Amino acid sequence: MQRYSIIRDKNPREIVLLRGKGCQYKRCAFCDYHEDASQDEKENLRINRIALSQVTGKYGSLEIINSGSFCELDENTMSLIIDTCRNRNIRTVHFECHWLYRNHIPRLRERFSAEGIKAIIKTGIETFDYEYREKVMLKGIKEKSPERLSKDFDECCLLFGLPGQDTKSMTEDIETGLKWFNRVCVNIMTSNTARLQPDKDVIRTFLQEVYPIYRNNIRVDILLHNTDFGVGNKDNEL
Ligand code: SF4
Repeated sequence: MQRYSIIRDKNPREIVLLRGKGCQYKRCAFCDYHEDASQDEKENLRINRIALSQVTGKYGSLEIINSGSFCELDENTMSLIIDTCRNRNIRTVHFECHWLYRNHIPRLRERFSAEGIKAIIKTGIETFDYEYREKVMLKGIKEKSPERLSKDFDECCLLFGLPGQDTKSMTEDIETGLKWFNRVCVNIMTSNTARLQPDKDVIRTFLQEVYPIYRNNIRVDILLHNTDFGVGNKDNEL
């Protein structure tokens, strides 16, 4: 498992894939990422220490992902993240967070701000089509309004390549994301062990009709494979 990488294109930053106690929600119909988790805090800390030790601070910006939400990282790991930022002169740190944990965000922002570090929070909204998101994807976000979602979160992730999506729906999702959020990260669905699986025709449509429009947009990251940021397990790819 690769747990450290450097993103050089667009918004350059270092990225680490840390391990926590795992996603507490675990119901998204497309996801099995929550398998990268353990209740063994000591072992998690050992793994996280190795990943964070590789951070150099070269861009002053660090993205933390942990197959879940930042609240699922243990306190020792959070302290280690702050120490790493302090020692490597990192002034911006990105975290992931599910909507269910939105009330924890202000405290995180304050904690990092007290250290002179800006915390940027990204959330997986997957689509702004509420019915599809909650009835097919089972995402568990009980908020329809992109405007209200943008009050808590700075950046959003979208998930494309699923049955029923088309050029119009994917384009509208990206445009809504760009309207309300600072950045959009498009993930293309890859095969895994979850119930909802990729639709190859939808992926082809995305590559032909949507990708060319946004591939050079500096506010849009597009991950054609879930390891395109350089972290994760390449054995799980299509
Ligand atoms: S997508 Fe995120 S919130 Fe949903 S089950 Fe996977 S890790 Fe949990």
